[in-house]
Amino acid sequence: MRPPTVTFLGGVEEIGGNKVVIEDGPDRILFDFGPSFSPRFEEFYLNFLQPRSTSPVKDLLEFGLLPRVPGLYAEEALHGADLDYEPPTFQAVFVSHAHYDHAGHLGLLDPTIPVHVGDGTRTLLEAIETSGGRGYGEHPYKTLAPGRPVRVGHLEVEAFPVDHSIPFAFGYLIRTREGTIAYTGDFRAHGPRAADTHAFVDAASAEAPALLVTEGTRAGPDPRRNFSEKGVREGVDSLLLSSDRLAIASCYPRDIDRLTTLYEAARAADRELVVSAKTAHLLATAAPLLPKGTPVPGRSEGLRVYRRPKKTYYKWERVFEDGAIEAGTLRRHPGRYLMELGLPHFAELIDLRPERGSPYIHSMSEPFSEDDLDDAVLHNWVDHFGLSFHQFHASGHCSGSELLTVADRVAPKALVPVHTEHPEAFAKAQSPVRPPVLGEPIPLPP
Ligand SMILES: [Zn+2]
Repeated sequence: MRPPTVTFLGGVEEIGGNKVVIEDGPDRILFDFGPSFSPRFEEFYLNFLQPRSTSPVKDLLEFGLLPRVPGLYAEEALHGADLDYEPPTFQAVFVSHAHYDHAGHLGLLDPTIPVHVGDGTRTLLEAIETSGGRGYGEHPYKTLAPGRPVRVGHLEVEAFPVDHSIPFAFGYLIRTREGTIAYTGDFRAHGPRAADTHAFVDAASAEAPALLVTEGTRAGPDPRRNFSEKGVREGVDSLLLSSDRLAIASCYPRDIDRLTTLYEAARAADRELVVSAKTAHLLATAAPLLPKGTPVPGRSEGLRVYRRPKKTYYKWERVFEDGAIEAGTLRRHPGRYLMELGLPHFAELIDLRPERGSPYIHSMSEPFSEDDLDDAVLHNWVDHFGLSFHQFHASGHCSGSELLTVADRVAPKALVPVHTEHPEAFAKAQSPVRPPVLGEPIPLPP
């Protein structure tokens, strides 16, 4: 019998784009299906330049941005492509979490392939879809829950919650006929759900896996400052307490831990947190699944929704009309508010007119490269309005040394780094490293 294999159709020497195929005899399943963040996708598609909705697979295959795999794509998505439609050759797709680089291509999948996700991730995907983000397509969704392994042919898949910068993220243990594969998804051990990550690592270690497929976003050189979520809170606290001006913060739109930190900091400084309607929609939709203390629009005191001037409002935006706050109020009472404002909505600054020296908190990753266009534009706006720039961000990913600690605790027969530009950094781990090569099956070590 051929040994089970793991094949990487993305996420190889790049951050994002994970597409991990696991095969055991006739059984074949896929973990995650998202586009690469950078550099590849953004070398060709940027901002409004995107694959055409009438021929998405064709437009992505043109630049090698999708795997040329039969039996994976929807017939409609294949329109115009030089890849013929075939009935599914995959029995199931599993999604680790709702970040775009792990779930963003779900809309291209053959709509008969079952998609396994946790309740929370499914809810986040729906909220993103409703508020105009992306389309994830129609699928026979199957609900995954920790402690309830699912069987696909000879394979058994068990989901474990892990800590990441979006809630409801899973790591996986995949039991084949010849050994276990552990797959971390994206994870960290310094956020509010660090205990989940430790429990996953313990469970993986207990099975002495044949392979550990580990993310390595922060493996290798990383000159950026390392904050914990608590460190972010302390930084924001000191700014808010020392200023009577409008405070503005940018964070990742789905980073609910960060929104909670900003909310708590605002309350401690006797300010209200003002969020966009999109953020409010996400918080309201996911509220029943989120821990106590997460701000919920309409229920949490001191949480306000910003009413951006628009010609027409969508139904999901109109829900927040009552009690919404406009630029004029923020301008008149700047010291009473901390406002969440993402770069795409920076034009609001023209109406908000923050006083020079007002604090601007950049609560996201520092740019990866020095010629980052978005970063240049962001700084143009910050400089134009004379805002004082502050960087406070805790990463969603394990640091380089944490990754090695995890690898050594799990002690697999071989280690496969994915979602990293520096697989060589894992050479310091005790287990031998098997760097993946795009499209080449890695057999489970005996
Ligand atoms: Zn992620």
